[in-house]
Amino acid sequence: MRVTIYSPEIYTYGSMLVGGILKEKYKVHLIRKPDNILFLKSDVIIFSLYSTLHIIDNKIRELINFIKRANKKAKLYVAGCISTYPEIILNELNVDGVIIGEGEITTPRILEGDEEGLAYREGDNIIVNYPKEKPSLDHPLPLIPKDIGEQNIRGANVYIETHRGCLGNCTFCQVPKFFGKEIRSRDVELVVEEVKEFKKRGAKRIAISGGTGSLYNFKKSVNREKFYELLEKLSSIVGKSNLSVPDMRVDYVDEAILEAIKNYTIGWVFYGIESGSDKVLRDMKKGVNTKKIMDAIKLAKDLNVKVAGSFIVGYPTETEKDYLLTKDFIVDAELDDLFVSIAEPIPTTELCSLVLKIPKEENPTFKRHEGIYRRLNLTESEARCFDLLIHGEMWKTKPRPLTKELYSLFLNEAKSQGRDIKKITELIFKYKEYLIT
Ligand code: SF4
Repeated sequence: MRVTIYSPEIYTYGSMLVGGILKEKYKVHLIRKPDNILFLKSDVIIFSLYSTLHIIDNKIRELINFIKRANKKAKLYVAGCISTYPEIILNELNVDGVIIGEGEITTPRILEGDEEGLAYREGDNIIVNYPKEKPSLDHPLPLIPKDIGEQNIRGANVYIETHRGCLGNCTFCQVPKFFGKEIRSRDVELVVEEVKEFKKRGAKRIAISGGTGSLYNFKKSVNREKFYELLEKLSSIVGKSNLSVPDMRVDYVDEAILEAIKNYTIGWVFYGIESGSDKVLRDMKKGVNTKKIMDAIKLAKDLNVKVAGSFIVGYPTETEKDYLLTKDFIVDAELDDLFVSIAEPIPTTELCSLVLKIPKEENPTFKRHEGIYRRLNLTESEARCFDLLIHGEMWKTKPRPLTKELYSLFLNEAKSQGRDIKKITELIFKYKEYLIT
């Protein structure tokens, strides 16, 4: 059996992982650009999708329709983190099934005809068979493509997995739902072996993923020794200038964790700050307040660790006053870098349910901005995104001058995000019946 896994634009860790498992039994190709010859020769094609936008992407839709017409014998599946909403996928894309959740155990079985972990259409009905067990993380080496060294995901060639799960409850995030709340960690030696293999295949810059890096080997508390050991070993393989642990919750850092980051990695932490308003943080169920966040920023700075922060604007309960508090927070925080996103109602999250309950005309994603940027014809979310990008740049430790180019870059970024979030919001309204909880 010939299997092709198509992961659009980037090789996600999940696509490489499932590729590694399937290659023990089948001939497997992993591609990030469409290859029609390969699609026509394959018996099974798995679209490994990681963004809700993929479901409404015309190129993906046309590709699927082309394969369905030209290779009638092939089975087409969708897998990846969007598989938590199989009903939407099966209504929008002409595929044979959706492989739900973590696919290490179920994918090989589904290829042999099993239905556990598979959602599919039967006449007018959609049958969803949830997987019964969570896989162990003791899996074979991933299928690492030859051009892995050429891909760039937020500065890294690859995000490797050290653990799964998150203790958080953030209303906009699907990690706890997809991976669960219990932390499952991989053995240090398995991660080491894998990183060596990635290096051999051409990857230079490695980032550690997993929601919050320091939750590695979390049992009842943060296991600093294991985290230290992990970073020390990985750093000795790729070098500290090529290793990063970008994502960190502010309530799971302390001096020892930050020292490890300074000693064994590029020396940056990336905090999901989201808002400078305690009310919005509570609404988002972030589990921390602005004081805690500011303390974590100060601690990192005192230890000479660089701090980047991400912010969310256009959360449905964010008022003008809340937004101004976020701007004040940025002034006080003096971050080394920052990122701004418009709130995305990922299907099945609490934020999605909230967005579905408010009338569209009250949703900042659709509401026209009537303030200082009204001539730019933006929505309220786009205006806040644009404004915060400019404001954040001004208050960074090393600001860039606001040239015409930078102004256009920020404006286009805000408009592009606004367009995408509108499309996703339209999609969730279309499938309200499946999503209202
Ligand atoms: S802490 Fe991060 S990974 Fe965990 S739920 Fe919140 S946003 Fe998601």
